[in-house]
Amino acid sequence: MKKLITTLYAGLVIAGALRAQQPEPCGHTAYQHYLEQQYPGIMQRQQELYNQALQQVNRQAALRQVRSDTVFTIPVVFHVLHNTNAKNLHDSLIISQMEVFNRDFRKRNADTSTIREIFRSRSIDTRIQFVFADRDPQGNPTNGINRVRVTRSTYGGFSLNDDMKFSSRGGVDAWNTSKYLNIWVCDLSVNNLDALLGYAYPPVDAPNWNPGSFVPSPEHDGIVLHYKIVGRNNPFAASGALAASRDGRTAVHEVGHYLGLRHTWGDPPNGVNGCSVDDGIDDTPLTSSRSNFDCNKTRNTCNTGAGDEPDMVENYMDYSSHTCQVMFSAKQTGIMRFVLTQFRSAVYTAAISSDTIVEAFKIFPNPNREGRLTVEIPEEQLKSHRYTLDMTDMNGRRIWNGIALKGSVNLLGTQLVARGVYIVRILDETGRVARLERVLFL
Ligand SMILES: [Zn+2]
Repeated sequence: MKKLITTLYAGLVIAGALRAQQPEPCGHTAYQHYLEQQYPGIMQRQQELYNQALQQVNRQAALRQVRSDTVFTIPVVFHVLHNTNAKNLHDSLIISQMEVFNRDFRKRNADTSTIREIFRSRSIDTRIQFVFADRDPQGNPTNGINRVRVTRSTYGGFSLNDDMKFSSRGGVDAWNTSKYLNIWVCDLSVNNLDALLGYAYPPVDAPNWNPGSFVPSPEHDGIVLHYKIVGRNNPFAASGALAASRDGRTAVHEVGHYLGLRHTWGDPPNGVNGCSVDDGIDDTPLTSSRSNFDCNKTRNTCNTGAGDEPDMVENYMDYSSHTCQVMFSAKQTGIMRFVLTQFRSAVYTAAISSDTIVEAFKIFPNPNREGRLTVEIPEEQLKSHRYTLDMTDMNGRRIWNGIALKGSVNLLGTQLVARGVYIVRILDETGRVARLERVLFL
């Protein structure tokens, strides 16, 4: 019976989209039900994981994670499945999709200016960024775009099946999903209609998870995108129902799911009593239902009394038009960074942002008459990085090089340093600058 109901659910979503002649922007919820059918109990486990993440985000530890300057970098492979040349998307579209990821996740999108005043301070740089994979799983050089000619004309259907992820079913096998973010670009149409734009596999690999019971195999993990909405200004989305989805933000939304986020309206069962179900994130206002590819800033679907706020249609996790979706909130960022470090810990590399001078790293006294320099490093940073220090004079002459910094407080003798200004840098193991200071020795 369960099987029948869940297959029906996915079918209803797709059929509804076809009837309305509007594509379903995201199959996340339908896909959850598909997984529940395959792996009974998975939705409950996801709820537990989500609650765990939420608890952390509401604690100080996660707030530190929200503020942390560590930038996480995720390698991405795009599998481009095509049975016609038209579906074999040009490199420029794939590259523009990557640009959109890095623009939006790093809050470098100019359209943050459209965020209403009430929400502006909640929009933040997630400090999560993306690079094309440069090695395939066998260690061979790659540009991160895996083009595969397939015989199937579409992978869409009335029930979600994940066939695009398996060569045995006419698709393309994942690259190790714990090491790469896999994105399958393929045709998701049904009867030549654009029924679904994308879906993502949510994080389920909690340490206390029993892999043998209800976790789908890791080969399912990743994101699926309809080829017509990949990248910016995709020619297949030039007009009609897809025109609201041509800024590459369907993929941004799906990466949000991949990193543990839910829709801002919380996906109430069967869409009923929407105001009783939240996304669990308290800096996105309570919302009962989705936007409809538009940008209605008068939308306010739940009245919460004193302090009531309108729906945050600017959020990437709504279904507003791409030109309307411009932000992740601070708490959403906390969830994504927590999920990444706890449940997708093999997929990223962490480094202090090279464009950030981290105030928590201290080099003092300055000016210096002491005959010694003190360097302090946050304890938290020592757990994941090895830091060294170098010092050059103003002519670029190296005075110190690669001095290992041990522990959170380091005392360094400066007896040999002549009077003058010197550049002192703290570097992480990849050579990125965590702190740069000009120190005057007297
Ligand atoms: Zn979604």
